[in-house]
Amino acid sequence: MKILIVYAHPEPTSFNHALKDKAVQILQKGNNEVIVSDLYNQKFNPTANWNDFKMIDPNLPRQYSVIQRDAYLKHQLAEDIQKEQDKLRWGDVVIFQFPLWWFGLPAILKGWFDRIFAAGYAYDKEKWFSTGLLHPRKALLSVTTQSPLSAYQPDGIHGDIKQFFKPIHHTLRFVGLSPLEPFVAYAVMNIDLQERKRYLTNYQLHLDKQILQRRI
Ligand code: FAD
Repeated sequence: MKILIVYAHPEPTSFNHALKDKAVQILQKGNNEVIVSDLYNQKFNPTANWNDFKMIDPNLPRQYSVIQRDAYLKHQLAEDIQKEQDKLRWGDVVIFQFPLWWFGLPAILKGWFDRIFAAGYAYDKEKWFSTGLLHPRKALLSVTTQSPLSAYQPDGIHGDIKQFFKPIHHTLRFVGLSPLEPFVAYAVMNIDLQERKRYLTNYQLHLDKQILQRRI
């Protein structure tokens, strides 16, 4: 099995980094191969703009997704986009490792979605959901929070954590990626070392159940 981890955290001593390393260690066993896209380390540019295209057909309307599709089909997307697309195409599973920032993706990862899930590459007319161009790959969100589990219950101050995953999962489904059960490590800054170690063990069990045992 081939697994891509898209990792979005700026700090190598962070708990997100530890979760990313745990996944690499666990998933590399057997015949599996793992690649990491370390977005901060790569200085990934998250801003979709006209520099994303080596050539722009002057006859096309100045609409990002229209030019994106044309550039993809003519192999005219910027090199950094092509590299990420190649990695995603190579994988059977993609794991997104990130801290919950404002109840969603950190901007660097949102920008990765904007630029990598290109028209023509990830989806096209009538090529979405079950016919999305990244089908039949799987995707798993691995997320950390500051607020505790109790805050993310239906009656907690934020409400059910699932509501924040819904728009992300919808995007993944749109391009044909089937979401696996997410993993959440709550309040990682406020719990003690033993609890954090337990999260690392639980993540190992989660990956085993969601990915390794399924033999995706
Ligand atoms: P860190 O603080 O890096 O790590 C936590 C602890 O784990 C540290 O003590 C670290 O030393 C320790 N650690 C590291 N490696 C290991 C290891 N191998 N074993 C054991 N311990 C280890 N939170 C919310 O709940 N909801 C939000 O909407 C939200 N929005 C935010 C928006 C912004 C812009 C920012 C900056 C933060 C926001 N937060 C929010 C908080 C954010 O989600 C947390 O800061 C983040 O999840 C913590 O993860 P971390 O990896 O940065 O933790």
